[in-house]
Amino acid sequence: MAQRPPVVIAGAGPTGLMCALALRRQDIPVVLLEAEPALTHDLRAGSFHPPTLEMMAPYGITARMLETGIKVRYWQIRNKPGDLIAEFDLDLLADVTPHPYRLHLEQHRLTPIQLGILRNDPAAEVHFGHHVTGFAQNADSVAVTVESGGKTRTVEASYLIGADGGRSVVRKELGVEFEGFTWPEIFVVVSTPYDFGARGFARNSYIADPFEFGAMFKLPDTGPPGLWRNAYPANPEESDEALLAPARVEAALQRFNAKPEPYEVRYMSTYRVHQRVAASFRVGRVLLAGDAAHLNNPLGGFGLNSGIHDAINLCDKLGRLWRSEDGPELLDLFSRQRRAATVEQVQAMSIRNKRMMEERDPKVQRERLEEMIAVATDPARAREHMLNTSMIAGLRRAAQIA
Ligand SMILES: Cc1cc2nc3c(=O)[nH]c(=O)nc-3n(C[C@H](O)[C@H](O)[C@H](O)COP(=O)(O)OP(=O)(O)OC[C@H]3O[C@@H](n4cnc5c(N)ncnc54)[C@H](O)[C@@H]3O)c2cc1C
Repeated sequence: MAQRPPVVIAGAGPTGLMCALALRRQDIPVVLLEAEPALTHDLRAGSFHPPTLEMMAPYGITARMLETGIKVRYWQIRNKPGDLIAEFDLDLLADVTPHPYRLHLEQHRLTPIQLGILRNDPAAEVHFGHHVTGFAQNADSVAVTVESGGKTRTVEASYLIGADGGRSVVRKELGVEFEGFTWPEIFVVVSTPYDFGARGFARNSYIADPFEFGAMFKLPDTGPPGLWRNAYPANPEESDEALLAPARVEAALQRFNAKPEPYEVRYMSTYRVHQRVAASFRVGRVLLAGDAAHLNNPLGGFGLNSGIHDAINLCDKLGRLWRSEDGPELLDLFSRQRRAATVEQVQAMSIRNKRMMEERDPKVQRERLEEMIAVATDPARAREHMLNTSMIAGLRRAAQIA
């Protein structure tokens, strides 16, 4: 059989790297093109749910993550005074997953693990400083246009996977609508070594408040004792300079948890949050995965996890096609299954989470928190809630879509 052109992947974020690993595992030729000169290192996601850890385990990724990641068995929804705390124990899921916890590890510590494993495979082609600028597809292949070092060339591909993030060139070139909306507020993300655990916060806590809700994650950073990352909303009309001024950040942290000494702040940044899903994840031989296909707010920690879920689902199907075990319509099933999981689960839950955290009516907010406490203290309801919030139920439902 004549040698077929490789699968080209745009973007070496966690999704693109996972696609490359999943395809190479099936001996499919891969070319991974990343616009930046190296892996990106900014403050992003860092919470991994049980199914994601299960999906990455066969590649040796999960074992490496467990070396430095923080296991989070308990997570909380609470109010600011701390008199209402719903605490969920993920050990209730020990019969359905070998990983009954969330694993916290910075995204920029995951991607070097993925790249390191990929680099052990001499047949995997990875090129940094290569910007995908467009493509043209026909029934048999895709001609991918790549710009590097001021020169433009074309790479022939059997398929093109756009894993090139929220501003995806591949999605824009496809002309696929990115349906949804952008939240009015901006998120400020701040990391401090201060031990919120000593004040009763679980390593993953969501703090409801009518004026300034928040989400707290403990992350390993360079090793114990690690850092606590706090994300809270702010006015997008203000500049980053104003929002990240030390006095503003200090005041916000003091409002979360008052203490006599000032907070030590190690990292801070802002980011804009969207709820958007591509109308289709497939057009011919071009596929979308990860943030290129969908964006959501960080309450629930779903964004990065669903990118990995896309990669595994898609590459399993591409493998079947490659081996002629199935027809091209299988790629529509990828789109249907992953769109359903995204729309019905990730979008719905992350929007609901945010609305609960930011509820403006204090009475309604207290009622909702009291209801969450009732759920958390009833093992049957808590288990059902955790099957949903750990993304297990959504994946099961999507797998039934034919
Ligand atoms: C600033 C920020 C903060 C975030 N914080 C959180 C958080 O706190 N919690 C949470 O759950 N999620 C968070 N997210 C979302 C989470 O980080 C993403 O869901 C995750 O990064 C998705 O991975 P990805 O590989 O699909 O996309 P990305 O990580 O965006 O990777 C895309 C890659 O493609 C490359 N690329 C882009 N265009 C091209 C091109 N034309 N050619 C070649 N390469 C290209 C980029 O350089 C990048 O390396 C955050 C996102 C951002 C942007």
